[in-house]
Amino acid sequence: MGETVTAPARRSRIFWQDGSAEAAGPPLTESVDCDVCIIGGGFTGLWTAYFLRQTDPSLRICVLDSGLAGGAASGTADGFVTPTIGKDLEQIVRGHGRQAAAAACDAVGRSILEIGRFTRRHRVAADYQAKNYLMVATTAVQASRLRRNRDLTASLGARFETTLLDAAQARQRIGSPAIQAAIVTGGATVDPFALARGLLATIRGQGVRVYEQTPARHVDRTADGYRVTTPQARVDAHRVVLATSAFQHRLPGFRRQVLPVWSYAMVSEPLSTEQLDRLVWPRREGLVEAKSFLVCGRLTADNRLLWGGGMARYHLGRDMGAGRVDDRRVFTDLRRSFDRYFPMWHDVRFSHTYGGCVDITRDLVPHFGTAAPGLLYGYGYCGNGIAASHLGGKVLCDLVLGRDTELTRLFFVDGREPAFPPEPLTFLGVRAASRLIEFQERLR
Ligand SMILES: Cc1cc2nc3c(=O)[nH]c(=O)nc-3n(C[C@H](O)[C@H](O)[C@H](O)COP(=O)(O)OP(=O)(O)OC[C@H]3O[C@@H](n4cnc5c(N)ncnc54)[C@H](O)[C@@H]3O)c2cc1C
Repeated sequence: MGETVTAPARRSRIFWQDGSAEAAGPPLTESVDCDVCIIGGGFTGLWTAYFLRQTDPSLRICVLDSGLAGGAASGTADGFVTPTIGKDLEQIVRGHGRQAAAAACDAVGRSILEIGRFTRRHRVAADYQAKNYLMVATTAVQASRLRRNRDLTASLGARFETTLLDAAQARQRIGSPAIQAAIVTGGATVDPFALARGLLATIRGQGVRVYEQTPARHVDRTADGYRVTTPQARVDAHRVVLATSAFQHRLPGFRRQVLPVWSYAMVSEPLSTEQLDRLVWPRREGLVEAKSFLVCGRLTADNRLLWGGGMARYHLGRDMGAGRVDDRRVFTDLRRSFDRYFPMWHDVRFSHTYGGCVDITRDLVPHFGTAAPGLLYGYGYCGNGIAASHLGGKVLCDLVLGRDTELTRLFFVDGREPAFPPEPLTFLGVRAASRLIEFQERLR
């Protein structure tokens, strides 16, 4: 076997956004009045605007994003559209009961199908592909976790079937020598940035006003709603939705509710036909390893290999600085796990390495609710937000309109929200927990 090639000519630019002609639109320069002002133009904010528009076309809606709408986590994601709520289904069943877990799983499963329908209906070229992905195990402990997960999902009557494969069966789907077992799970893959920008174009076409490069600096109560102050102008709105995800901790009242935790990915140069022929991968399904700090891989439309995940990183004081994007240790670890899965691709070169922040809550599930009359919020997907934020948009739409529906009765709406302790306790706690998990995973 030849020498391992470590990431030459790397670019930190996010793969999905590299070479895109999309640029941030003009900021808000003149004050406006509206019915609903949504702060945050990622999937959560954009889907909320979309569903509000569908439900009541007369509403005057505006969305503010401090940068490029869809340019943060939404346009950085690995593109797995999964039937997942938060981090761990077993924990949800323990904490909220089987019925609550089943209702949430069903609702997020429906979102996967509806996102596909949306792309077809509005001709959004986001390479949406309804396809299974493989949750894979590389150790006996992971394999038993997979089996438990499969049994639990099946017993909840999940919308997507899950099938257990032994090592030989799994390797016929993805010919990696590292894989010991797998469950096939229903889902989809997508180009997340193209989906976000397509959604943005759709709602703009429907009359929603979206102002990019427009950070909300303050949100203050007024006689009949809220005043949102931005650098050049203000928005007066009857209702406000806070949809800023990993940035949410910067808003008053949310400091200890959300941690921005870094997640990383690297994307290879396009694989040649000869390189592709070295591996059995007939259905091009993505793979996700069933461990606490998951690693995941998928092929892109132009035959690149996206390899992501690994050790999640939290930095003291909720640091989201751009300097954290290029974390060499993370990419060395990712390359190591890639080599373990794909020794036949020792000569594959990675052209893009990057990261972004996901919004982690203390109980590892999302939270949606009402902070004050007419002031709504939603965040906390814990790294699994593509399908869940579509569901989140529907929940927020119902909350904005004051409707009591099956969605506003889901377990993560207006529920109890445990907070993180003040710094440096959070930092020290996260670091100790991460090291323990990392150590345990290495023993397995
Ligand atoms: C590397 C990585 C890989 C991932 N992979 C997957 C995956 O494969 N599958 C999956 O399901 N999920 C994945 N996720 C998670 C998923 O991307 C997120 O859960 C989802 O995109 C969250 O959407 P959002 O709209 O809540 O947040 P964001 O997309 O982060 O949007 C929040 C927006 O708020 C704006 N904002 C912040 N503060 C202000 C302010 N004061 N004023 C105005 N605007 C403001 C920001 O500019 C930003 O655009 C991944 C995330 C990362 C980082």
